Amino acid sequence: MDMIAALDRKLAELDEQSLTRHRRVLETACAPRVVVGGRPMLAFCSNDYLGLAAHPRVVEALREGAALYGAGSGASHLISGHTQAHQLLEDRLAEFVGVHLVAPRALSFCTGYMANLAILTTLGQDGDAEIFSESLNHASLIDGARLARASVKVYPHADLTALGALLANSNATSKLVVTDSVFSMDGDLAPLPQLLALCEQHNAWLVIDDAHGFGTLGAHGRGALEHFNLRSPNLVYMGTLGKAAGVGGAFVAAHASVIETMIQRGRPYIYTTAAPPALAHALLASIDIIGSDEGASRRAHLQSLVAQLGHELKLKRWQRMESDTAIQPIIIGSNEEALRIGAGLYGMGLWVPAIRPPTVPAGTARLRVTLSAAHTHEEVAQLAAAINELEQLR
Ligand SMILES: *Cc1c(COP(=O)(O)O)cnc(C)c1O
Repeated sequence: MDMIAALDRKLAELDEQSLTRHRRVLETACAPRVVVGGRPMLAFCSNDYLGLAAHPRVVEALREGAALYGAGSGASHLISGHTQAHQLLEDRLAEFVGVHLVAPRALSFCTGYMANLAILTTLGQDGDAEIFSESLNHASLIDGARLARASVKVYPHADLTALGALLANSNATSKLVVTDSVFSMDGDLAPLPQLLALCEQHNAWLVIDDAHGFGTLGAHGRGALEHFNLRSPNLVYMGTLGKAAGVGGAFVAAHASVIETMIQRGRPYIYTTAAPPALAHALLASIDIIGSDEGASRRAHLQSLVAQLGHELKLKRWQRMESDTAIQPIIIGSNEEALRIGAGLYGMGLWVPAIRPPTVPAGTARLRVTLSAAHTHEEVAQLAAAINELEQLR
């Protein structure tokens, strides 16, 4: 079969460039200590930043949600799949992040990927709309911009001058500036206050993807908006619920008119089955924890682990990227060496993903350490010592 031979040739090319990806099969819950292929491992891979994915209260709420609402929603939100659990979750989220918005309302989604597609295709649906997209944005924002009818301009990473010039030259009737808040492969923060000032000056929406900030940033875990103390009707906020919130799904919070437009016109919202209601029920427990004293102490512990890793890594050839968030990348350079070091750590019982192009630019293959409040200081010390040792081996 020629078609299969063609696919196999392409796959062989990937392999020659050390770009083949492999999935490892986990036999236990998401936590620092996992079992993979019968082998106990210490993992620094997940986005479960607060350690809520296996939190007893969240797991119990999931069980309770299944007892109350069954396993599946049975339909899309606009037909009959919108349950009381979804509504309570949306109300709770609107209240939680709404202090930073004007006339706030929230809309829940099955995934952050779909939420981003819905935002960009709804607000960017007209041909004379324009999307201004940060160069390091997540793939789901890039795909949302491709799917929208709006024209797309990419501005260089954190370059306010370049963005300002693009906005000043735009005649678009609708303008959207779109950015990650915490960059997922670098761990740094976008200059959100300055971006918002530009958006207000040029009548543009500021679409913020806070996948890695919701739950982890801000005194109450409300995310990047709380961290920078922002409040504006121009804000369109997307938070994911499968990372710090530990369950799955996502939400958009914005002015009620933005949300109503997404309900009426957002195809990735309308044409899909609503998430299982039990997930929404579990998320109510997880949002409670995020906003509580327990959430605050989990965030404080996570910050102390971030500081510890920074102190204990003594790198000469490799480079730890400047990051104060739970995402702690270590740039190695070549794909081959990054893979080899990832494998070396794995052999020592430490699981850290090696990230290669196209996820990151060529020549910047890296280890992407993610820390969680579920890690201990001893575990982070073990990781730092292992990385220091491997760097010296060459
Ligand atoms: C994970 C992630 C998403 C996608 O969210 P899912 O709920 O996993 O689909 C979107 N944007 C960023 C920046 C992410 O890291």
